Amino acid sequence: MRVLVIEDEHRIANTIKEGLEQERYVVDVAYDGEEGYDLAATEEYDAIVLDLMLPKKVGIDVCKDLRKDGIHTPILILTAKSMTKDKIIGLDSGADDYLTKPFSFSELVARLRALSRRPNKTVNETLKVDDLTLDPRMCRVERGGQEIELTNKEYSLLEYLMRNPVTVLSKDQIINNIWNYDADILPNTVEVYVKILRSKIDKPFPKKDPLINTVRGFGYKIG
Ligand code: CA
Repeated sequence: MRVLVIEDEHRIANTIKEGLEQERYVVDVAYDGEEGYDLAATEEYDAIVLDLMLPKKVGIDVCKDLRKDGIHTPILILTAKSMTKDKIIGLDSGADDYLTKPFSFSELVARLRALSRRPNKTVNETLKVDDLTLDPRMCRVERGGQEIELTNKEYSLLEYLMRNPVTVLSKDQIINNIWNYDADILPNTVEVYVKILRSKIDKPFPKKDPLINTVRGFGYKIG
């Protein structure tokens, strides 16, 4: 396991590093949000421990930007804020779990282990929902063995849905995960892309159950 710790308080960062190294983790430390983002974007980690209040780039932005750039490394947020609102913002920004300071070291290790067991840990693993497969290494999508051609954006949307199977994803979540800040998003942009995706994933297979489902008033889910 290779872990990146992004934490500006040297004492906490070093305590976590030393503790994790005793658990046979390989640990890198970044002391501000920019350095943390750069490392997370260029190196391969099994998990990231991310403080929220950071100089240069706050934790929420580090998290959001990593997800927007297609980096799916599991992120555990460390937050001194115990307010539910902040936890929800953290999870909505793409984090996988959170821990409120002060925390016990054994709990941190347990949470990291749980994160690393998640199926989406390996970004290169082939994703599968029924007979639909997506191979991230080849960027290849097939249903029932038949290749399906997708544009970049359609592919990103499908990958996002498939990395969160049976989860209802809101339009906001979809926009936050697959479009950039400066993208031109019209109110019905997500609907348009979902419609295109259906025409390629579900329509050609009328005898099979549709995979892309609308949950009225909430969003979309796959499977
Ligand atoms: Ca801090």
